[in-house]
Amino acid sequence: MPIDFDLTARQKKLKAVAREFAREVLRPAAERADALPDPQAAFCELKPVYEQATAAGFSTMFLPEEYGGGGASTVDFLVAIEELCAVDPGFPTVLLVNGLALMPVLWFGSEAQREQWIGRATADTRGDFLAGWVVSERGGTANFDHPSPQAGIQLVADHDRARGEYVVNGEKHWPCNAGGWDLRGADVNLCVVRTDRTKGGKEALSALLVERGTPGIEYSVIDKMAHRTCQNVTMTFRGVRVPEQNLIAEGDGDLLINRNFTWSAPIASIAAVAVARGAYEFALKWAKTYTGGGSRPIIDHQAVGHLLAEVAAKIEAGRYLCWKAAHYADTHDGQGHALGGMNKTFCGDLMQSVVFDCMRVVGVNALDRKFPMARYYRESMVFPLYDAGNLAMQRRRTWGVMADAAFTPDTFVDGDPLVFTKSMEGYGVVPENG
Ligand SMILES: Cc1cc2nc3c(=O)[nH]c(=O)nc-3n(C[C@H](O)[C@H](O)[C@H](O)COP(=O)(O)OP(=O)(O)OC[C@H]3O[C@@H](n4cnc5c(N)ncnc54)[C@H](O)[C@@H]3O)c2cc1C
Repeated sequence: MPIDFDLTARQKKLKAVAREFAREVLRPAAERADALPDPQAAFCELKPVYEQATAAGFSTMFLPEEYGGGGASTVDFLVAIEELCAVDPGFPTVLLVNGLALMPVLWFGSEAQREQWIGRATADTRGDFLAGWVVSERGGTANFDHPSPQAGIQLVADHDRARGEYVVNGEKHWPCNAGGWDLRGADVNLCVVRTDRTKGGKEALSALLVERGTPGIEYSVIDKMAHRTCQNVTMTFRGVRVPEQNLIAEGDGDLLINRNFTWSAPIASIAAVAVARGAYEFALKWAKTYTGGGSRPIIDHQAVGHLLAEVAAKIEAGRYLCWKAAHYADTHDGQGHALGGMNKTFCGDLMQSVVFDCMRVVGVNALDRKFPMARYYRESMVFPLYDAGNLAMQRRRTWGVMADAAFTPDTFVDGDPLVFTKSMEGYGVVPENG
């Protein structure tokens, strides 16, 4: 049995538990939060849900058992995330970003750093601990691997060797979770910094673990049109001193970014599938009961039936591509950067149009805010834009892998190993006329 798409008994149970949690616990809080005008109040409205998610084991399920996590595979995590995102894709982003902050510590950190930071996350039984993944910048993030030191990441960390510290100055724009519940910082923020002012993005980037309470940082919340149940902030650093033992991936921040976005790609993609699924479930039910003033439910009209058939096919195809990308990463030590990029661009872009097709089935009533379609539409706009934006970062790294001699069209279908290297970076950062 070389190909098996069946969920195990454990995965079926996980799906049922996550679905019940999503409908009973998450939905009412997310609906209240989405209606709140203040974005920080909207985020905090979900705090009791986060506490219950922690108690249920969702918050740290993807972290290894040896550090106190749930030991779930990425495929397992997708099963749970799809259920949560079908109700609200903002809240699961909080869980995803905890992972984006902590998984690099597992991959690039020392044993002491793993025990300290992953251990702190898994020791939290109350549902307080937040970790931020801090990479995006106001001037743009899409060209983080640009060869010029004046381009790409500009949050600078200068090494003060005498005091054994890095001194950080600059700004980050968009990191999720980073402000924490009280806007005094997440428990830890993993910040991608420039540790060499003279080199390009393939050599000059590293990451610093910045602990809550570190002086010199200010946070202000971004007021988004969707995903209002997660927090995004602008983070300003003025002379922020961080102990040098908090540095990871020195000179390999570029590889850290790429590996992180390979881990998150199927998760963000299943979120897109889930939102489309939510819209499809509503549209299908509508089509079976609404007559449009005629004598039969509108599903009996071929135009509606054909469109719903296309919608269902795209959702099924999207879901299985997510499972494949997650499975490849699970079985290849977090590799599969090109497949992750394909997964994210395919699902993020496609599902946004699937939600619109569902609105076309429902008709004008899809615009009525008392129904969920208008919200699904807003939420679906996020997927092509966030998690390493589809037009540049996700497609560039797929392109870089495909251009390499080691890549063949059979690489992923045959499950062959293919390790991402720095030589696959930098594609498309300097345009031909640039
Ligand atoms: C809900 C949510 C959660 C988020 N969470 C986080 C988080 O936890 N941490 C974090 O750091 N950020 C986070 N972000 C920010 C976001 O993920 C990134 O900033 C975003 O993906 C950057 O993508 P971009 O392509 O728009 O980049 P930009 O650099 O702003 O690019 C802008 C545009 O220029 C185009 N472009 C630029 N250069 C090229 C090129 N070489 N080739 C082709 N096109 C190019 C891009 O394709 C894009 O269309 C979050 C955002 C949202 C909405």
